[in-house]
Amino acid sequence: MSIEVTEISKYFGQQKALDQISFTVGQGSITGFLGPNGAGKSTMMKILTCFIPQSQGTAKVCGYDVFENSYEVKQQVGYLPEHNPLYLDMYVKEYLAFAAGIHKLKNIDARVKEMVEITGLTLEQRKKIGALSKGYRQRVGLAQALIHNPKVLILDEPTTGLDPNQLVEIRTLIKELGKEKTVLFSTHILQEVKAVCDNIIIINKGKIVANSDAKTLQAGNNLHVILSIELDKSIAIKELQGIQHVLEVKKIDEFKWQITFNKADDIRQAVMKLALENNITILSMKIEEQSLEDIFQKLTN
Ligand code: ADP
Repeated sequence: MSIEVTEISKYFGQQKALDQISFTVGQGSITGFLGPNGAGKSTMMKILTCFIPQSQGTAKVCGYDVFENSYEVKQQVGYLPEHNPLYLDMYVKEYLAFAAGIHKLKNIDARVKEMVEITGLTLEQRKKIGALSKGYRQRVGLAQALIHNPKVLILDEPTTGLDPNQLVEIRTLIKELGKEKTVLFSTHILQEVKAVCDNIIIINKGKIVANSDAKTLQAGNNLHVILSIELDKSIAIKELQGIQHVLEVKKIDEFKWQITFNKADDIRQAVMKLALENNITILSMKIEEQSLEDIFQKLTN
């Protein structure tokens, strides 16, 4: 495992920002760290990158303990903090050489050149960072995180504030980087997680509320299914409630209904039979799968 977190808690004074969190991230996978604002994502990432200590529990990166072996952890981890703090008066190449110097790299020029190519900064490399667009600043941040060739990348909201084109570019870059490295990145864009991640961890109020791949997460939360129907005539609610295995009936309007049932107990035949007996035509019938957005709201509300 590249990241192993065991029962980590973090207090800020009286406030518990993380509450006995445990999870692992496998080598070479991309994991999305999701949660509403204030859930504890940045706090967890700061602990994993040795910026702040945990109050309780243990966390290891590539087998090194973040508290006891912080020097080794920092060698294994590339970190792009939230809001991507950069020296705006420095030139791109100058800044990356400075970052390489902090890591005491020997082949600084060659490494900077390589990073500029990997992150698509060739045309911007001689500009001041302050003159770059947000998307290119994110690339500089990523280049900085990658400069010492870490095995693990921790990216705190790397796509926040980007326009749709920049978003796609940075996502593609993260996906590309994920082929070689373990990536843990936080976001609140659900489509992004679906598009990029092998695994999703959802955190709410300092606790993990889901940890699986997107498909399993959707399947697990779709045990209750909603059937939307449209009829040509009105029907009494109790008729629909009377169908065996129906859990809930919701009236949308005079002719439209939503009926909830367990996935294991398909009620569609029974609905058709009821319609036939009452001389009603079913104009449409559709099973509504819960989207990732619905699941996220359900888990974090
Ligand atoms: P997220 O990244 O999911 O938005 P954070 O990890 O930044 O959440 O914050 C989790 C909680 O911890 C929040 O309630 C936040 O106010 C609190 N918190 C974070 N950092 C500090 C700090 N340095 N001092 C006090 N409270 C903090």
